[in-house]
Amino acid sequence: MQLAERMQRLGTETAFSVSAEAAAHAAQGNTIYPFHLGDLNIPTPESVVQGAFKAIEQGKTGYCPNAGIPELRQALAEEVNSTRGTGYSMENVAVQPGGKPVISKFLLSLMDPGDEVLYPNPGFPIYESQIEFLGGRAVPYPYLEQEGNFSVDLDDLQSRISPRTRLIIVNDMHNPTGARFSRQELGQLASLIQAHDLYVLLDEAYFDICYAEDRHSLAAIPGMQERCLILYTFSKKFAMTGWRLGAAIGPEELIQGITRLNVNQESCSNHFVQYGALAGLKQGQKEAEEILQRLKRRRDTAVELLQEMSGVSCICPESTFYLYPNVTEALAALGTDLESFRKELLKQTGVSACARHHFGSPMPGEQQAYLRLAYSGISREDIRAGLQAWRDFLHSRM
Ligand code: PLP
Repeated sequence: MQLAERMQRLGTETAFSVSAEAAAHAAQGNTIYPFHLGDLNIPTPESVVQGAFKAIEQGKTGYCPNAGIPELRQALAEEVNSTRGTGYSMENVAVQPGGKPVISKFLLSLMDPGDEVLYPNPGFPIYESQIEFLGGRAVPYPYLEQEGNFSVDLDDLQSRISPRTRLIIVNDMHNPTGARFSRQELGQLASLIQAHDLYVLLDEAYFDICYAEDRHSLAAIPGMQERCLILYTFSKKFAMTGWRLGAAIGPEELIQGITRLNVNQESCSNHFVQYGALAGLKQGQKEAEEILQRLKRRRDTAVELLQEMSGVSCICPESTFYLYPNVTEALAALGTDLESFRKELLKQTGVSACARHHFGSPMPGEQQAYLRLAYSGISREDIRAGLQAWRDFLHSRM
């Protein structure tokens, strides 16, 4: 069978292949410390579970409106307004089966063939995959480690804008580095976007996984609500990755287009799951806060141990449930490369992690080497045991 030509341009999420490797290693009777996948080993809040059960009992099992049940659209608009300071109403919300579908629906709605789209590299690999698959030109912009932080150099970003650039993908708070833009940087980014008349996919999948008090959204800056489509997801905040529910939130005209895509692609998102999510927004905020505090404790444990390892340095990010330790010195001391090191780490210690190249091809001139550790799917005890095994492994060879 000959697959369509476009299938050659479709990428994938190679983090899933790291899971398969880890599973194969575990199947041979080895202990695994699963730092690879951004899934949670924390149960979904009871409020969500009960909300969904009740909806099933009440027969909410048929099709529902294409853009989502009105109560959830309304609650989402209110939630986003209260956390970000925006001014959305339910007409600005189209419920989706997860956050991920928002990426392709944004591109399908706004990108013409040959248009250039800026996207972060390292970054969530689905951006590049979907831009190329749908006939656009993917133009990466880097995140760099500077002064104890990962950040985007906005002058560099500007230099990558051409007359064909129409869209930009901004992932604030960022997978894999955990970085977030400061308020000042968001202001500068907004000016740049407006000056070049760009539209934004604002991937805020981790907006609620933020340990700092002051959170800012690009969409709340004057003139930006009209240009941003927010990718919202229930996956992380309410530990609902497998329930598959999210939303596209943005200008009404765009939401109408996206709702038409919903009609064409899945008709509607799961009906009773929407009631579960609604219960989460209305009654589950305390449970969500507990999830956040649990994640924070894991972060602190992991960062402390990583910072003690020779040859490794690790920034302590204020958002996401990822760490992006720099292992350049360890590789030099061991005389190995990143991929061999990652594989050896799994074999010798059971620590399963992703690496820089799972988040896009390294950019020209990039010299630092990083692993990415997710601490969302591993207990604190296992974080300790895994990172101590890693430390012993390193110290026995350096
Ligand atoms: N965006 C980013 C940056 C992510 O890391 C993820 C998932 O890991 C998503 C979007 C999509 O999440 P979901 O489809 O579960 O809502």
